[in-house]
Amino acid sequence: MNIPMLDLKAEYALLRDEIEPAVTEALAACQYIGGPNVKAFEAEAAAYAGVRHAISCASGTDALLIALRAIGIKPGDEVITTAFTFVATASTVVMCGAKPVFVDIDPRTFNLDLNQVEAAITPATRAIVPVHLFGQPVHLESLKALCDKHGLKLIEDAAQSFGADYAGRKSGAYGDIGCTSFYPSKNLSAFGDGGLMITDDGKLAAELRVLASHGSRVRYHHHVLGYNSRLDEIQAVILRVKLKRLDHFNDRRRAIADSYNQELAGLVETPFADGRGRHVYHQYTILSDRRDAIQKVLTDAGIACAVYYPVPLHRQEMFAATHGGVRLPVTEKVAQRCLSLPISPMLKDEQVRHIGGVIRQALT
Ligand SMILES: *Cc1c(COP(=O)(O)O)cnc(C)c1O
Repeated sequence: MNIPMLDLKAEYALLRDEIEPAVTEALAACQYIGGPNVKAFEAEAAAYAGVRHAISCASGTDALLIALRAIGIKPGDEVITTAFTFVATASTVVMCGAKPVFVDIDPRTFNLDLNQVEAAITPATRAIVPVHLFGQPVHLESLKALCDKHGLKLIEDAAQSFGADYAGRKSGAYGDIGCTSFYPSKNLSAFGDGGLMITDDGKLAAELRVLASHGSRVRYHHHVLGYNSRLDEIQAVILRVKLKRLDHFNDRRRAIADSYNQELAGLVETPFADGRGRHVYHQYTILSDRRDAIQKVLTDAGIACAVYYPVPLHRQEMFAATHGGVRLPVTEKVAQRCLSLPISPMLKDEQVRHIGGVIRQALT
């Protein structure tokens, strides 16, 4: 039984009768940029997330870059974040001319170790960018309190956690700005690239819009250096169809994670969920000292699996000159022991049992 990481074909088969006519209609309407579906999607996404403003853009990377620019991140500034994440979390800080300061992670949640954040704050610190890695919500109230105490901004990287809840709010809605991505593998995904910034702050929302459209408040008048970063009408049509199913799909991911937890209990370290937030299992990630052996057995059995992330950011070549001396023991250890297993709303219970059986055989 061949099993992919993420079964987009099954999802397409499920949704095509709704998506295809809607796309055809948008094609014929010919309003490809700034069309009615983009505006409707922004309104629906804001309502879903429980925020006043949602501003779409071309990718999750752009969402982070534009959010950092909107809060005024500039050369000389420091931004505290994690090294156990996708590169865009920190590369966008560098794109603003600022310096990412990496704090080690909690070995159970894989998220920023909240006990170590305050020690990393310096007079140059301007913002903290927590990542809700693999869909697990960061405990934001203590981070928010730190930000308030030190006059810092809080930008959530919610690229892997759209739809997760924490403290009665949707992921991304707690910080000054929340950023998410609609890359095809994300929990809410387009058929190409796309991104979104959410905020309750009307002034920030206006600034985000200006930066995403060439730094222009009045057409052909450019106030600041901006970007050309837009979600297109076709992707907005697709996202509107999928947003309606997001909670249902995330429920299914949680049920699959429960089944995996039962299958794998005692064999490997299963993902930690403390019940304080609602995890959306963008990835189902286990820890084991025999990670490489499990990976080989699964691959030989035709079951996809992946190491997210094999090289933490402070060890990346692009950060060698600036972060060569940084030591993050927990991050490094987790990077050697982690393995993500197939998960998608389309994964069947019997497939989870099969994967569990292959891992059990490999380890016993
Ligand atoms: C996917 C991802 C991004 C970037 O999103 P893109 O849409 O691919 O640009 C940023 N941060 C994290 C944590 C991600 O997983």
